[in-house]
Amino acid sequence: MTPDGQMLAMLLERPGQPLRATRMPIPVPDGQQLLLRVSACGVCRTDLHIVDGELAPHRSPLIPGHEVVGYVQQCGPEVRGYAAGDRVGVAWLGGSCGQCPYCAMQAENLCEQASFTGYDLNGGYAQYMLADARYVFRLPARYDDVHAAPLLCAGLIGYRAYAMAGQARRIGLYGFGAAAHILCQIACHQGREIYAYTRPGDIRAQELALSLGARWAGASDQAAPVQLDAAILFAPDGALVPLALAAVRKGGVVICAGIHMSAVPAFPYALLWGERTLRSVANLTRADGEAFFRLAQDCPLQTHTTVYPLAQANLALAALRSGAVGGAAVLVP
Ligand SMILES: [Zn+2]
Ligand SMILES: [Zn+2]
Repeated sequence: MTPDGQMLAMLLERPGQPLRATRMPIPVPDGQQLLLRVSACGVCRTDLHIVDGELAPHRSPLIPGHEVVGYVQQCGPEVRGYAAGDRVGVAWLGGSCGQCPYCAMQAENLCEQASFTGYDLNGGYAQYMLADARYVFRLPARYDDVHAAPLLCAGLIGYRAYAMAGQARRIGLYGFGAAAHILCQIACHQGREIYAYTRPGDIRAQELALSLGARWAGASDQAAPVQLDAAILFAPDGALVPLALAAVRKGGVVICAGIHMSAVPAFPYALLWGERTLRSVANLTRADGEAFFRLAQDCPLQTHTTVYPLAQANLALAALRSGAVGGAAVLVP
């Protein structure tokens, strides 16, 4: 704890404006909440959509950040199973109602009253934060804090999208950033073939893809070297949808993994014909997290990170916006 009970937080006061470095009181945990001392927080493209106002604000002012590694500092009165000093990870799903039809069918990711970290709830762009103990994850010991942070969204939501690809053997990844660079390693570990599509001219991302085991890397407007069984779109560009549909075989699937995407242009029905599927992936469930971290325990994932001090969160966001981040950006208080 800081002596004056205050912490540094990067606050979003109005979408479209830079975050403001603010001193504010360290929050006090209630009920099932843990007070965490944040040690690393990944910067996700969703944060950028929130900060830039592409997603409607849910709370103002807001502390963004939903790829948080932290240490339990204090437990709320109803918390069981955690003690001071435990390391945990906080992801995008911060809470769900447990009662709606979606929660009842193990689809808490679609819960009507879900609360999301760094969107409905204050997140990890701060020295301390609160998190519901029932929604945090234990993290595999093989990853240090900075390298574990990107696993919490880029890894986890990437994994949910990957699961939607079923048994697909040849998988195209469109947008080779934080999520794709983790997923590429899991897929290669499982004997699948990865074809990486990047922004035209982004040689660095193409080289990263090849170094992580991709069979092929090229620009998103290049023709695929083979017919794909599935394509996963991480880049928020709707114009990629028809390109990806054209690249998958009959019966293949195109999965849009981002929370926001620019408009999908009209395309001929022939691209969807042949029982191709176009679908989105929304949020995550706790079961996804448990399955993913079991896999991350066995499969040594290298996360390529660029570290920024917490106070430079605006720089990290700007780098992500311009495509200048190699791998994943991580803030360290
Ligand atoms: Zn619910
Ligand atoms: Zn995210």
